[in-house]
Amino acid sequence: MSEELIRAGLAALRAPFEPHQVGKLPKPTKQQTDEVKADFKKGVRCNICGGWHHPQVVHLDYVGHAAITDRLLEVDPAWTWEPLAFDANGLPAKDNIGGLWIKLTILGVTRLGYGDATGKSGGDAIKELIGDALRNAAMRFGCALELWHKGELHLPKDEPEEAPAVKEREAITDSRLAGAIEKIKNGEFTVEKLHKNFLLNEYQLKILEEAIMK
Ligand SMILES: [Zn+2]
Repeated sequence: MSEELIRAGLAALRAPFEPHQVGKLPKPTKQQTDEVKADFKKGVRCNICGGWHHPQVVHLDYVGHAAITDRLLEVDPAWTWEPLAFDANGLPAKDNIGGLWIKLTILGVTRLGYGDATGKSGGDAIKELIGDALRNAAMRFGCALELWHKGELHLPKDEPEEAPAVKEREAITDSRLAGAIEKIKNGEFTVEKLHKNFLLNEYQLKILEEAIMK
């Protein structure tokens, strides 16, 4: 496969997900978990995620492993994953805290991912481990990266988060455009990405057109 196709495929992994593919995951603090564990009546049936948890729990946007798998198939129908290690029975080996390291290969590029299944047991835990590891490894390819980023960086707050998948294109200054054109010329950036992220005015469109015709 050509370098260009691989690059385009890897870029496609980063495309935003549709709002209906983005779910809500409760992220309780340890204190909240302990409180509900000690007295389940401290919890509520949540009308955001459907789970039973402390009423003040913050929710993070996340893309489930089915939507991630769909994206991987779209980009590379022959994508694969394998565990980093096997146990004595030839099964995927978990680490000493019950997590699973995997290798995810997309378009011939392999990256590591790690999954855990905190709070689950039995067969569900295994499925969760795999799904979580895939989500984590795919994130290393930029898949749903914004949501992870958001989850890590945003502190709890009262107002609901905006829908994550819709990205407004912003205006670009002339000097920044000049920088972007430089990068397009040396292959670090593309015209498609420029248009996807920025709204150019008529004058800037002309500058761009002239620059890339040269
Ligand atoms: Zn919830």
